[in-house]
Amino acid sequence: MIEVVEPASAEVMAEVPRAGAEDVDDAVARAKEAFPGWRAIAPGERAKLLHGLADALGERASDLAVLEARNAGKPIADARGEIAMVVDCFRYYAAAPERLLGQTIPVGGGIDMTFREPLGVVGLIVPWNFPLVITSWKTAPALAAGNTVVLKPAELTPLSAIELERIALDAGIPEGVLNVVPGPGSVCGRRLVEHPDVAKIAFTGSTEVGRGIAAGAAGTIKRVTLELGGKSANVVFADADTEAAAAAAPLAVFGNAGQDCCARSRILVEREAVDDFMAALERTVKSMVVGDPLDEATQMGPLISSSHRETVASFLDAETRVAFRGDVPEGPGFWFPPTVLEPTTNDVRAAREEIFGPVAAVIPFSGEAEAIELANDTIYGLSGSIWCGDGARALRVARAIDAGVLSINSNSSVRVSTPFGGFKQSGVGRELGPDALDHYTDVKNVFYATG
Ligand code: NAD
Repeated sequence: MIEVVEPASAEVMAEVPRAGAEDVDDAVARAKEAFPGWRAIAPGERAKLLHGLADALGERASDLAVLEARNAGKPIADARGEIAMVVDCFRYYAAAPERLLGQTIPVGGGIDMTFREPLGVVGLIVPWNFPLVITSWKTAPALAAGNTVVLKPAELTPLSAIELERIALDAGIPEGVLNVVPGPGSVCGRRLVEHPDVAKIAFTGSTEVGRGIAAGAAGTIKRVTLELGGKSANVVFADADTEAAAAAAPLAVFGNAGQDCCARSRILVEREAVDDFMAALERTVKSMVVGDPLDEATQMGPLISSSHRETVASFLDAETRVAFRGDVPEGPGFWFPPTVLEPTTNDVRAAREEIFGPVAAVIPFSGEAEAIELANDTIYGLSGSIWCGDGARALRVARAIDAGVLSINSNSSVRVSTPFGGFKQSGVGRELGPDALDHYTDVKNVFYATG
């Protein structure tokens, strides 16, 4: 069995069966058997089934939010927002079966047309930081396009995925279409990646594991999409509304206790604004409410595990000095305070590696060119923000930063209807929006000779 631990209390909250490689084989066989029936369902019927699933998830939203808040240690208000996004995601892709359009292409001697065909059985591998949200980003477009799914949640957070499977069956999604296998990545994930009957792997997780997945999938030439790590920049120019930028910056890195691939953990501030910015940042960080995820007032919960807390703490090393931190509750949970380092350079380890915890590095810069250079001086390219009073400059900088998801005078990264994904070593492919559907279908070209 897998013992599922609640991060806020450090106690076991549930036990679930630990799947092995043979369970993955079994799930893939069931998904393979279900595929012809699922792809053959008329698009309008498949749309109705997905709307039914969205309705059923909406009815269960409040208890799913509590489950997610407890298992992942995230504030209940955030968990509610995430479950609302899960419902929206299934609803958005419920419209897709009837909109998977092909083309007719002018050629001589006949008619040429294209179709978007499902891939077959797709393997979805999900991390622990946004368990059900990231599951929905993959599952909804995969099912809408006519694929069947084997889903492997993270060992630390399997509970909401198991609920999703139950809810889907109750909502009329046929047996075998959505199969959840909770088990270790090194066993179950690996088997999915190598399985000859799996057509595609959609993975979200660390860049290190992503590299292994790309290599493992090569053996069977699987399609692969990868949503990996990040080290995003929050660029603040001196002519920006620095009070607003400083008020927003903490949640952009400490939201989800910093366990967010989009965390803007490098705060690049134009040199003349650094002192004012640090003062405003300190006011916000010191007033952050860190505590019980189920308390409505909580803004930040614990880290996911004791070993992850040790990893995060290891970034506070001889190269860095803490400028200020917030408070954390006493007790057995995996607490770590929101922490801002003294202004530093882009060369220290805390500025180069993904910390995946509530630690922010402020890095001074002089002028637009240096801001762009520093923002791009990383192996990652997932997200980022530009705070700037000059709209033309903000757009110029946005075009010059090598990242997949940028926002201007805002820290938002994700909307169901817009593409999400990384440049460089932050990944391959896009989730959400219309783009995701391209990654769950192949294009077929059919020529019909008309003589
Ligand atoms: P992880 O890479 O350790 O694990 C992710 C998933 O992969 C888990 O389900 C795990 O069991 C599985 N896995 C582990 N080893 C495997 C293997 N050898 N073969 C197949 N599957 C394997 O990541 P994590 O610690 O769960 O999540 C944190 C990471 O995820 C961070 O790096 C973060 O940036 C990244 N992330 C990226 C995005 C994005 O959209 N770009 C979103 C969220 C998280």
